[in-house]
Amino acid sequence: MEEIRKLYKIVWPEGKDRAFTMSYDDGIRQDARLISLMNKYGIKGTFNINSGKFGLENNFTLFGKTVDTSTFSAEEIPEVYKGFEISTHGVTHSSLMNIGALAVTEIAEDRKALEKITGTIVQGHAYPYGRYDEGTKNILRACGIRYARTITSTHNFELPDDFLEWNPTCHHTEECMMELGKQFCERHPMLAKNPMLFYLWGHTYEFDQFDNWNIIEEFLAYIAQYKDSIWFASNIEIYRYIQASRQLEFSADGTAVYNPTSTEIWFDAAVFGTGKIVRLRPGETTVL
Ligand SMILES: [Zn+2]
Repeated sequence: MEEIRKLYKIVWPEGKDRAFTMSYDDGIRQDARLISLMNKYGIKGTFNINSGKFGLENNFTLFGKTVDTSTFSAEEIPEVYKGFEISTHGVTHSSLMNIGALAVTEIAEDRKALEKITGTIVQGHAYPYGRYDEGTKNILRACGIRYARTITSTHNFELPDDFLEWNPTCHHTEECMMELGKQFCERHPMLAKNPMLFYLWGHTYEFDQFDNWNIIEEFLAYIAQYKDSIWFASNIEIYRYIQASRQLEFSADGTAVYNPTSTEIWFDAAVFGTGKIVRLRPGETTVL
């Protein structure tokens, strides 16, 4: 069956060729400014929050410049992040490596607190300091975490082999961000064997640190021009869509496909080409 699957290429909802997602850490007050930009351009994404650090007044000084890193209170979270995914970043922002059972507390208690505040099922994580190993991943699995973001840039538009090692495309301070954005928007989809994904990450205090809010607005404005061919989604929406697509069941001769999931799945059924976009409705068998 795997051979048959390879003849078809999954595409994003509505038959789109590309998806774009963002991931920002630490739940700091400058997130509100980024969210207003994301809403202006119709961009979606995920914010990774420490439930043990709500409502703190903080700042730090780097290169002679002091930057505010204060966080939102628990009461402010639902309104500030309305329409965006909230995921775990650990209760106290500790590295999960070499802290034994405390790692379970860091994740499970963060999930519980964030789920209570948001009324959502929280299943994502961003590794504090980007630190993880196989043991960390096992703890995340046991705590019901489905994906976790690293801090290792790929500079490509591939999906992760392992969603618990989800490497982003780039950080917004990298000079190549706009060039990668252009490649992503202009590359012919035939050249990509998988549905393309651009994954951007960072911390919003960095825009104050480097006084460069203009770079993110220019980038989002550029990407938004291509909205007809880009699915703007949160991290968990990307994860759930790909997981659902992997559950498709094909007939023995490959001419029919059953979608056993509750998700509408789209794929390009033109072998070695593009253009035959097929919509697979939940619970239905579709003849190709
Ligand atoms: Zn962090």
